[in-house]
Amino acid sequence: MDRPFDAAVIGAGWAGLGVSYVMTKAGLSHRVLERGRIGETWLTQRWDSFHLNTPKFQTVMPGDRYEGPDPEGFYTHDEFVALLEDYAKRYCLPAVTNTPVTALTRDAKAGVYRLFTPVGELTARAVVIASGSLNCARRPEVARALPGDLLQIDPSVYRNPQALPVGSVLVVGSAQSGGQIAEDLAMAGRVVFLSTGRTGRKPRRYRGRDVSFWEQKSGLFDIPRKDFVGPDGRIAGRPLLGALHTISLQSLSAQGVALLGRFTGIANGRLTFADDVRENIRLGDDVAAKTRRHIDDYITRNCLDAPPAVDDPAETVAPRLPNPPILSLDPSEHHLAAVIWCTGFEGDYSFVQVPSVLNVHGQPLENEGLTEVPGIYFPGVDFSSTRKSGIIIGIAEEAQRLVDHIIARRGDHPQFD
Ligand SMILES: Cc1cc2nc3c(=O)[nH]c(=O)nc-3n(C[C@H](O)[C@H](O)[C@H](O)COP(=O)(O)OP(=O)(O)OC[C@H]3O[C@@H](n4cnc5c(N)ncnc54)[C@H](O)[C@@H]3O)c2cc1C
Repeated sequence: MDRPFDAAVIGAGWAGLGVSYVMTKAGLSHRVLERGRIGETWLTQRWDSFHLNTPKFQTVMPGDRYEGPDPEGFYTHDEFVALLEDYAKRYCLPAVTNTPVTALTRDAKAGVYRLFTPVGELTARAVVIASGSLNCARRPEVARALPGDLLQIDPSVYRNPQALPVGSVLVVGSAQSGGQIAEDLAMAGRVVFLSTGRTGRKPRRYRGRDVSFWEQKSGLFDIPRKDFVGPDGRIAGRPLLGALHTISLQSLSAQGVALLGRFTGIANGRLTFADDVRENIRLGDDVAAKTRRHIDDYITRNCLDAPPAVDDPAETVAPRLPNPPILSLDPSEHHLAAVIWCTGFEGDYSFVQVPSVLNVHGQPLENEGLTEVPGIYFPGVDFSSTRKSGIIIGIAEEAQRLVDHIIARRGDHPQFD
């Protein structure tokens, strides 16, 4: 057997490349195995008008700093992939593209992990699984019961309004993907129904700066997981946030999007919705107001010289709700041509064949990127350690912590425990 690497990294997205950078600096022998191209998820799973909603000055990889002329602007997905490619090249990161890991197993006797790929096998003492915790769209079971001639797609497949068949479009889910896609469709003049949910929202700018600037500065991103996880172990999803400007349910309604309540299922061939649109708008407004209060308090406490608040038309516009509320839709009566399920994402870890690494839903059993299984790590998982886990700005700290752990373990435990 060839000498095992100190580590293998699965996936060349920002999480995998961020960890590889720190490993390279630390002198750890490793390879990054990527099933497609660098940044594959961003190349193949984003719509045409997509912009990252983290500003450029926060879209920085470990060791880098944004020094361009537009710190509070937003990259397109192609620009972001170019940034990742440049990063891998500049730091000579050992990324091997077009090499999917088809199985990851543990060889306890040899004290190594085995990674199988179509072009051969690689062994490593530690494995960093950075294959993406948000690159498989989730759909509710009931989607199977919809008429067979209705096109059903996920945000990862949606490209642009012109690519959809003629007719109206139902977007289910009003978080970041759902809100942004509904707006993309409405701006192209499509008839759009948006099934809303209990999702917060954030203003794009406040007191003269991008809202993410204040969140970072005031320590909001550093709040530890234990302080925002509910008693039932659940965490509220990331709020609706437009990339280039504020998006609210009321601003979407003013652009012609017909707002519906939560999708509840199918009855007698009709899609049914709860009567809770007003409640969902209120919840979004409450979360936005809380964000603004937090920023105001921070500015006051620190005696900062920030401009006064100005009204944001996306927040002050009155909602234009269907009257009476639409509680059910007949697909043929409403000329429904497509449903876009913006109902969440998860990871595909089906290649992992090491016990105690995944939960019953096939998702990572991790705590702050660490697992119970020695030598297996998960960087980049949403909300894993703090509010910034799962967004690019969080990877510098996390990568350092995980690599320190790998090095400490290498010294103490050359074999499996
Ligand atoms: C629609 C959407 C918009 C988002 N916008 C932002 C944003 O603006 N800013 C922000 O900070 N975050 C954003 N996020 C969140 C976050 O950045 C993503 O979830 C991010 O992709 C996570 O990075 P990652 O490197 O862990 O995963 P990915 O970018 O998904 O990278 C994983 C890589 O692993 C590869 N891979 C998968 N399986 C295998 C395998 N078996 N073998 C080899 N390689 C494999 C994939 O091809 C991919 O290149 C967004 C998420 C979504 C879903």
